Amino acid sequence: MTEAQARLDQAVEEVNEAMRRYGHRLLLDEEPIPLPLLRALYWDYLEVGARQIATSFGIRAANDVHRLVGPDRRTANCRGGCGRTVERNRASRAAAQASGGHGSRSWRLCDDCRERLAVEEQATADRWAQRHAQEDAEDRELLHQAIASGRKPVARFVEYEGVPGTWHIDDDGS
Ligand SMILES: [Zn+2]
Repeated sequence: MTEAQARLDQAVEEVNEAMRRYGHRLLLDEEPIPLPLLRALYWDYLEVGARQIATSFGIRAANDVHRLVGPDRRTANCRGGCGRTVERNRASRAAAQASGGHGSRSWRLCDDCRERLAVEEQATADRWAQRHAQEDAEDRELLHQAIASGRKPVARFVEYEGVPGTWHIDDDGS
């Protein structure tokens, strides 16, 4: 099991536990089940089992939870700031899972903004990689110069790609 999976399992277990306690208190107090909460649990937390939701809130069967919450039809303003309205329309949890199960935040992006943000993230990652590569190249160049000039600097241990052996260099590269 991966660490991420273990963390997710742990989080789901905590939600289950909190849901059970809360649901049982409602039952004891003979309070009605808050439908918005039920809806959020059912449609935004696909990892939480419908069966668990049912038993926590004293609902007879998982199917009855589905009947209570109804299909997932929502509209929201796109978080990408394009001014468009996005909508979510899902009839079943299986369909939600199949569509990638975008969580409670990520679905509030239109396809264009989702794509644009992904491209921007990639560009940022590329810029970082490029900068690191450039810094490495500059370090190597300094080392080559030090070797060429026959100096034997003495401050840091370094090993550089393509340069045999381990070298000492000063922090200023001389
Ligand atoms: Zn958008």
